Amino acid sequence: MGYLGAIEGGGTKFVCGIGTADGQIIDRVSFPTTLPEETMAEVCRYFADKAIDALGVGSFGPIDPIPDSPTYGYITSTPKPHWGNVNVLGALQRQFDVPIGFDLDVNAAALGEAALGAARELGGCLYITVGTGIGAGLVANGRIVNGFTHPEMGHILVRRHPEDSYAGNCPYHGDCLEGLAAGPAVERRWGVKAAELPQDHPAWAIQADYLAQACMNFILITMPQKIIIGGGVSKQSHLFPMIRRRLGELLNGYVAHARVQEEIDSYIVPPGLGDNAGLTGALLLAKQALGRA
Ligand code: ADP
Ligand code: ZN
Repeated sequence: MGYLGAIEGGGTKFVCGIGTADGQIIDRVSFPTTLPEETMAEVCRYFADKAIDALGVGSFGPIDPIPDSPTYGYITSTPKPHWGNVNVLGALQRQFDVPIGFDLDVNAAALGEAALGAARELGGCLYITVGTGIGAGLVANGRIVNGFTHPEMGHILVRRHPEDSYAGNCPYHGDCLEGLAAGPAVERRWGVKAAELPQDHPAWAIQADYLAQACMNFILITMPQKIIIGGGVSKQSHLFPMIRRRLGELLNGYVAHARVQEEIDSYIVPPGLGDNAGLTGALLLAKQALGRA
């Protein structure tokens, strides 16, 4: 048996790798996301001399992850120039005669974390990325949860923090969660990169409030087995205790379950797979595609 191929297609960079069905990554490369033709050619070059039995793709979105839809496998309405309406899956199918799994990047990361990362043995988790944008994927009972398309949990509305006068920068909604709490919003609000804000800066209480509100909403709607927060902004590890504390205040005891009370420190956590959550999840998408074939 050969290896499985995995692609984590991000708006900034693409990561390609090969690995095994149990999620071990054997090799990986990464290159910047440029024009679709260029980037997909680079992807195809990487896999050309690898004996892969299947391929899994976790892509930035919005995408069409619904197999019986006419635009299945496309990046659909992304604001990223040149990438709207691009048939990523089709480009791969033309080159590789193997089963290919395709889903949203955060769905893949959630799958990776649920199977092999911080939520292994729980059967599910919610994976939130807080980076250039905010997105989240949900795995429940071992399966990715999509509806008529994938969820867009980064664009939920949150209550404004009383000390926050920043208008928000989501091109669609202004002050949705992403517009207020993604990396670029933090940078615009304070005029410095999020990574340069000291730990005792008032920025972090505001940030923790928005992310705790998001967690509260996601908990109330889906009761995820665990919440995993990744992405660049989550590298600020002091945020985790602040989010947990604020979530406790917001829930105010309403959800009477150990997960969100005495076990809160192990309920809201960074990715167990670190920066490999997405690529590992893509390997699992490949494994699922192979299983279906
Ligand atoms: P992407 O979303 O493009 O995949 P990242 O998850 O790294 O990439 O997110 C990039 C965003 O995260 C930028 O806005 C950047 O300012 C912010 N960021 C990156 N590293 C850190 C850090 N250590 N602390 C706080 N913010 C960070
Ligand atoms: Zn929005």
